[in-house]
Amino acid sequence: METVANFIHGECVTGSGQRVQAIFNPATGEQIRQVVMSTTQETEQAIAAAHDAFPGWARHSPLKRARVMFRFKALLEQNMEKLARIISEEHGKVFSDAVGELTRGLEVVEFACGIPHLQKGEHSANVGTGVDSHSLMQPLGVCVGITPFNFPAMVPMWMFPIALATGNTFVLKPSEKDPSLALALAKLLQEAGLPDGVFNVVQGDKESVDVLLTDPRVQAVSFVGSTPIAEYIYQTASAHGKRCQALGGAKNHCILMPDADMDMATNAIMGAAYGAAGERCMALSVVLAVGDKTADELCSRLEKQIAALRVGPGLDRSPENEMGPLISAAHRNKVLGYIDSGESQRASLRVDGRRFSVKGHEQGYFVGPTLFDNVTPEMTIYKEEIFGPVLSVVRVADYNSAVELINRHEYGNGTAIFTRDGGCARRFCEEVQAGMVGVNVPIPVPMAFHSFGGWKRSIFGALNVHGNDGVRFYTRMKTVTARWPEMLQDTGAAFSMPTLG
Ligand code: NAD
Repeated sequence: METVANFIHGECVTGSGQRVQAIFNPATGEQIRQVVMSTTQETEQAIAAAHDAFPGWARHSPLKRARVMFRFKALLEQNMEKLARIISEEHGKVFSDAVGELTRGLEVVEFACGIPHLQKGEHSANVGTGVDSHSLMQPLGVCVGITPFNFPAMVPMWMFPIALATGNTFVLKPSEKDPSLALALAKLLQEAGLPDGVFNVVQGDKESVDVLLTDPRVQAVSFVGSTPIAEYIYQTASAHGKRCQALGGAKNHCILMPDADMDMATNAIMGAAYGAAGERCMALSVVLAVGDKTADELCSRLEKQIAALRVGPGLDRSPENEMGPLISAAHRNKVLGYIDSGESQRASLRVDGRRFSVKGHEQGYFVGPTLFDNVTPEMTIYKEEIFGPVLSVVRVADYNSAVELINRHEYGNGTAIFTRDGGCARRFCEEVQAGMVGVNVPIPVPMAFHSFGGWKRSIFGALNVHGNDGVRFYTRMKTVTARWPEMLQDTGAAFSMPTLG
């Protein structure tokens, strides 16, 4: 059985720990590889490699670091098909969706190629007579990324391209459920000319994570995953003096107004609810339909489209499936449990995905697309993140009740409104309490040059990922105030707060 290795100081090294985890192909339920959970010592070796590589890498000019990113971008493009196959095989998502997540990651690499401009800092001449001031945006040192299973390419690439381009070194701890992609990215970075030790991968779980959160050589931690773990990461990393951004779970609502373009809205809701089998932090899992007529029309349209949805292995491409399996048997059972709970709490189960199987792939972790109507805010399926292909329709009387529900929910990652009324959409953008807002756009994931992050219990920490926030997160500001003796007449020692003017 192939073992997925660590990548430390430019070399693939198989872990020596006792705990081994099987990696499955979710479309078949068969084990395809295994991964060894790194020990404390192995995790410390990765930190040491990154720590030793930092001074040299930080001394490279931003232009030279950007050139490595340019070569990495080209290699990502050349290897897109191979990388997408790895994602689809271990995660289960359909091939075109895997290409989509790689592309979103690639866009952050493109953003990082502009680092000489982004890391310029500021300069003011004559802040006082003969006195100039400029700021330096210096790298932090060893930065860490701890990432979830659902985007094995995109989420790590939200982090390390900017961390590396700004002059930091990096240790990535990918999800143990689909760890191979991280290793493939490490090899491409090496091929792109990244010096050994600048980027390292440790495979593992809580044991490695706890070392990364507490080791004094680590300066910053970026995390993406579920909310309870995000909160733990933020608290532990902060208590150990590290800068931390920890992005958590979600329960994304959209409002469907009676005046919406129903063709556009139904298509958008279908893709956003069932794409990647609902395993996206920006999946739409709740529709707040304003008025019974709107809800009735939406549900009957969704029923028809769900019946036509192609569900099957992510790598079957003639024609390509639209939705793949869930990540694991355990997660499948969890999602099935949520559907049971919705039924027993008396939501109307309009499409039941429980007894769903794909011919020839009966052992795969498939759950059929599921639709609940008449869901209410007290129900478990409304309150909790399901992370599966389960869509809840909540009937509300008007716009105000819809916004109130969104604003009351503990999560605030993404949200959307479907309407033709510009005034209503504008009000929604002002009032809604969520970090990413779509107007007739179902999954409003900001582009690489903007920043991604939610509100409320969907994030812990002040700075979002990528865009300007990403550059700020991976750098610290130093402001230099300078004057030169020949320019000034010395006025002697001053004992009051300098005002420079
Ligand atoms: P997870 O929280 O189980 O795991 C995330 C990472 O944390 C993994 O690397 C895992 O090994 C590690 N981890 C797990 N348990 C740990 C523990 N007790 N101590 C230390 N480390 C631990 O999340 P997941 O199931 O891989 O991913 C799905 C979750 O991620 C969903 O809740 C989803 O909403 C969220 N997510 C959020 C975003 C976002 O941008 N907000 C993006 C993608 C996924």
